[in-house]
This record gives sequence, C-alpha cells and structure tokens, in this order.
Amino acid sequence: MFNLSFIFDMAWLIGLLSLLLLFLNLLIKLDKIKQLQKTVDSLKKSLEEMDEQAKLIVRTDIELNKTQEELDKKITGLFALQRLSRAISTTLEENQIFKMINTNHLEELGFEKACAFLWSDPESKFITCLNVGYQEDEIEKIKSTLQSDKNVYLNLIKNAKNISSVSLIDSVMRDKVERAFLVNSFVISSLLPKEGNKGFLFVGTENRDMSLTEGDEELITILSNQIGQALENARLFEKTWKAHQELENKVEERTRQLSLALDEVRMASKRKTDFISSVSHELRTPLTSIKGYASILIEEKLGQLPQAAKDRLAKINHHSNELVNIVNDLLDIVRIEAGKTVMKMEKHDINNLVNSASDLISIQCKNKNIELAQDIQKDLPSVLVDASQIERVLINLLANAVKFTPQNGRITVTAYKKEQNIQVQIQDTGIGIPSESLNFIFDEFYRVDNPINQEVKGTGLGLSLAKNIVEAHKGKIWAESQVNKGTTFNFTLPIT
Ligand code: ADP
Repeated sequence: MFNLSFIFDMAWLIGLLSLLLLFLNLLIKLDKIKQLQKTVDSLKKSLEEMDEQAKLIVRTDIELNKTQEELDKKITGLFALQRLSRAISTTLEENQIFKMINTNHLEELGFEKACAFLWSDPESKFITCLNVGYQEDEIEKIKSTLQSDKNVYLNLIKNAKNISSVSLIDSVMRDKVERAFLVNSFVISSLLPKEGNKGFLFVGTENRDMSLTEGDEELITILSNQIGQALENARLFEKTWKAHQELENKVEERTRQLSLALDEVRMASKRKTDFISSVSHELRTPLTSIKGYASILIEEKLGQLPQAAKDRLAKINHHSNELVNIVNDLLDIVRIEAGKTVMKMEKHDINNLVNSASDLISIQCKNKNIELAQDIQKDLPSVLVDASQIERVLINLLANAVKFTPQNGRITVTAYKKEQNIQVQIQDTGIGIPSESLNFIFDEFYRVDNPINQEVKGTGLGLSLAKNIVEAHKGKIWAESQVNKGTTFNFTLPIT
C-alpha cells in the first residue's frame, strides 16, 4: 500500500515536475519566439527600407537618364548653333545671312520649320526674309495672319520678348500661333539689330513627340541674337562701304578737277612764257636801236651837243642798259623754264665757283665794311654743272646778301656734303624777310616792301632766275629768315 501511494505521489510529483519543466521550457521558447519576432520585425523594416532605397535608385536612374538625354540634346543643339553662327558670320550681306540657315541646321536643333520676318515701317508690313519647310502658299497665309495680328507681333518686337509653347501661359494665344504657323511646338524670338529693320525669328515642329524645353527656347534666343548681330554688322558694313565709295568718288572727282586745274595752270604758264618771250624779243630790237642812236649822239658823231643834252643821253643809255638786262633776264627765265637753254654740264669744284663769285662781290662788301667769310668742307666731291649759270646763282645770292645787309655786317658762304648732294648756304646778318613773304620771293617781279627796296632799284627777277637755274640742275633752293637777324639761302646740287 505504502508503496503504491508512494508510487502515486512520486508519479504526481514527477508529473508536476514535468509540467513545471514544460512550463519553463514554454517560457523559454516564448521568450525566443519574442526575440525571433523582434528579429523578423527588424528584418521587415530593413526590407522595407531597402525597398524604398531601391525605388529611390530607380527613380534617380530615370531622372539621370532624362537629364542625360536633355544634356545630349543641348550639346547637339549647341553644336548646331555653333555651325550656324559660323555660317552666319561668314557674310556681311544682309540677303545672304538668312540663306545660311537650312533644313539640316534646323533638324539638328530639333525643328523642321522656320521663318523670319522684318517689319518695314515705310511699307507698314512684314517682309519675309527666311522660309525653311513651308510651301509658298503656306508662307503667304502666315504673312496675311501676321498682317491682321500685326500689333501682337509688333508688341513682341517692341518689348524684345521671346515666346514659346513652353513659356507662353496664354493657351489661347499659344493655340493661335500653333495654328497660324502649322506646328505643334514653337519658339518665337525677336530680331533686334541696332541698325535697320527689326523683326522676329520663328522655329517650330509638327512632331507631337518632341517635348520642347526651356533649353530649346534659350538656344533659339541665342540664335536670334546672333542673327540680329549679323544684320547689324551687315548694315554697318554697308554704311562704311557706301561712305568709302562716296569718298572714293569724291577723291576721283577732286583728282579730275585738280588735273583740269593743272592743265589750265600749265596752259596759262605756257601762255605767260610765250608772251614774255615774244614781248622780250619785240623789246630787244627797238632797245638796241635806242642804245645805238644814243651812243652815236653821245659820241657827237652827228655834231656837238650841249652838256644838258649829253647828260640826258647818258641817262637814256643807262636806262636802256637796265632795260636790256631785264629783257635778257626774262628771256633766260622763260628759256630755262621751257628747257630751251642748253646747259654746258661739266665737272667742277664748288670751291672754285664760290671763289670766283666772291671775288666779284668783294668790292661791294668792302664798300659797306661787310665781312665775307667762307666755310667750305674739305675734299668735297665735284659737281656736274654749267659753271657760268651756277656762278650767276651765287652772284645773285651774294649781291642780294650785300644789298640787304647793313654796314659792318657779315656774310658767310658754307658748302658741305649732305646725302647725295652738295649743299651751299649763303648766310647774312641783314634785315631778313618776313615769314609771309618767304613763299613769294622766288616769283618773278616779287619784291618785299622794305626801306632798302624803296631806295635801291631792283627787278625782282634775280631769285626767279636762280631758282630756274638750280632746278634745271635737278637741285632745290629755299630760304630761311628772321626779320632783323638775317637770311640764309640754301641750294643743293647733285654730286656727279
Ligand atoms: P631784287 O633783288 O632785284 O629785288 P630778287 O629776285 O633777287 O630781286 O629778290 C626778290 C626779293 O627778295 C628782294 O626784293 C628782297 O625783298 C628779297 N630778298 C632777296 N634776298 C634777300 C636777302 N638776302 N635779305 C633780305 N631780303 C632778300
């Protein structure tokens, strides 16, 4: 009995213990399940997060692709624009600028239709200057729509505005433009050259799949700015060209007039030369007779004469001589000028020519106590000249120097080599020549109005003769002077 109850007790105990163990086990399992559940939850969360991230990646990828596409489009557009700009800038003719835009360029920009119009104020209408992709009748229709809606388009131009299917908020207007220009998307951009007519450029496409972007609008705006600039350049070039042509015409006309004037001067000069020449010849014959008769009378070959008559005859003789000298000088001037005087060209030492002229003038210098100095460069090359003529020049210049230099003055003759010439200078300390007279002293009969000229006789032919002689030797003659300080006459002779 005891054993049985004991066994029962034990069994119950064991059962209880087992239950307890089971319960404990259950508790442990439950805890594990909880932990597992937690892990599952966090895994779920991670999965959800990963799903989100995957979605984000896909979205970003799509966006990246789109951006890439847009970038590609922009690059193609920019290349097309660059080609177009280059083509446009190759011409400076307004008519040619629009001819540079063709279907290829447009396609590269993503359009197949384009037209441009410039507003002509005098005609009060739009003038077509570009048509790509339209039939003639279509463009005519567009033009008539433009004419009826001209204020809308003129306002666009006036306000320098661009509109497009993307940027235009007014859907009525957008539809109207699309219908008028037979397209589904478009860009209109103003053409605003600073010079000349203003207008607008239209580009569009019928392609419904083409999604026009703001980038497209930007590209077309750049293009229209460049066309505007090209139009301006063409206008400026035309203006400059016209001005150039006008100037050239004026120069041509002036040259023609000058040439006519020169011919007239030559004719007048020839007439003057002929006149002086014939008058001088005509004067010489009677003068010779007058001189001859005066000599016969003075020598009393026709009977004795009272002293008073003799004195008058001496004066006639003296004045006749003066007249003969004038006539001879005049004849020499016109002959040399006309190249009719034969020069006896020979090699000469300028020193000798200066010496012989100075000898002739030395007495006059002594009379006025004028110092006559020489400063001739040593070993000067010889000159090829007609010695008698160059002596005439030297004597004339030296005689003038003595005439116009007061007592106790100084005259210096200098000669030196300068480039391929011998330059001779006759410098005096005389009364000088006013600057306004310097240009005329080589003209025939010109004499400066000064006290010496009022007192001492002169013909005003000496310098003209000197100039003709020097120029006949291919030299130059000129004077520099300061009133009351002195004058320097210079002349050059080419070295042989
Ligand atoms: P002429 O001496 O007979 O008057 P020229 O032709 O030799 O004629 O000279 C023209 C004018 O030039 C002179 O009248 C004089 O007024 C001016 N002239 C020439 N040489 C000199 C000089 N050395 N000093 C000042 N005036 C001069």
